[in-house]
Amino acid sequence: MSKTEYELIIVGGGPAGMSAGIYGGRGGLKTLILESEAIGGNMSDAPEIDNYPAVENIKGMELAEKMKDHASKYADINEIEPVEDVSLNDSIEVETKEGAYSAEALVISTGTEYRKLGVPGEERLSGNGVSYCATCDGFFYKDKSVIVVGGGNSALADASHLLDLGVDVKVVHRRDELRAEKALQESFFDKGGEVIWNSNVEEIKGEDKVEEVLLKNSADDSEETLEVDGVFIAIGDVPNTNLADKIGVETDERGFVKTDDKQRTNVPRIYAAGDATGEPKQVIVASAEGAKAAMAAYEDLENPYWT
Ligand code: NAP
Repeated sequence: MSKTEYELIIVGGGPAGMSAGIYGGRGGLKTLILESEAIGGNMSDAPEIDNYPAVENIKGMELAEKMKDHASKYADINEIEPVEDVSLNDSIEVETKEGAYSAEALVISTGTEYRKLGVPGEERLSGNGVSYCATCDGFFYKDKSVIVVGGGNSALADASHLLDLGVDVKVVHRRDELRAEKALQESFFDKGGEVIWNSNVEEIKGEDKVEEVLLKNSADDSEETLEVDGVFIAIGDVPNTNLADKIGVETDERGFVKTDDKQRTNVPRIYAAGDATGEPKQVIVASAEGAKAAMAAYEDLENPYWT
């Protein structure tokens, strides 16, 4: 198979990848963004983004589309093209089902995937009442009852979005204090949102679709069964770093890619940016890291520190 040559390949098309595409292309590098799904990453699942400077309020999907339009002026973007293999030779060889590519530098911006609760019923009823994306599935629960599991920014943003859609929502949180930022908490409680405190979901029950959840109170060990139509799980993320592992890129004890302050990894010519490098998981931070990664790549290719 003949290889299409690039100078910079970016694996992952969330905000970090798209920003790296803009900076790589503008830095004069022939740049390709490969995305395994549709462009946008987890940002696309955010019901609302209220903290990206100069954009007071926007749906995650809409910001992703804007970033894609912008990045496509400077980089080729191949969506629904998962990377199957990467090897490091004189150049960096990248293979997908659709093609083979080579590059001089590579940015890993592969993001994270949703953490699973790991309770009985979760996997079996996934797609039939169990969801990890309120933006995608919330609409189907208008006038129905759901719980949102978690106490962080995602859980509160999802729960607020569901309340706006006319869903009867309760947040189930394992402690007596939320982790979410104050603005999201205020918005949720102002809308009449309720929290079931100190509670863990022990089991999700139902024949073909979610019908009930079994909750256990961590303070007194009491159990309660709640009739619900849906369970939205928002308990954080785990990094997608298979690619990093495969090519010897170092990760920390939680699996996030380690980088220096220019987004360089321990492997020359390989950079990492965005959620795959750990917190804070914010669109602005991912975008900034993508920009830094591409800038480091073009500076390093001009003046290689590894030769
Ligand atoms: P997170 O901040 O890691 O919070 C996860 C929540 O789920 C915590 O409340 C945690 O409880 C709970 N949890 C974790 N494992 C659990 C388990 N096995 N069973 C029950 N509960 C569990 O995750 P996130 O809310 O998904 O956010 C991820 C990142 O995205 C964060 O950095 C967040 O700031 C960012 N984000 C930002 C925004 C925004 O800025 N508007 C919006 C969405 C996400 P404990 O509190 O007890 O640990």
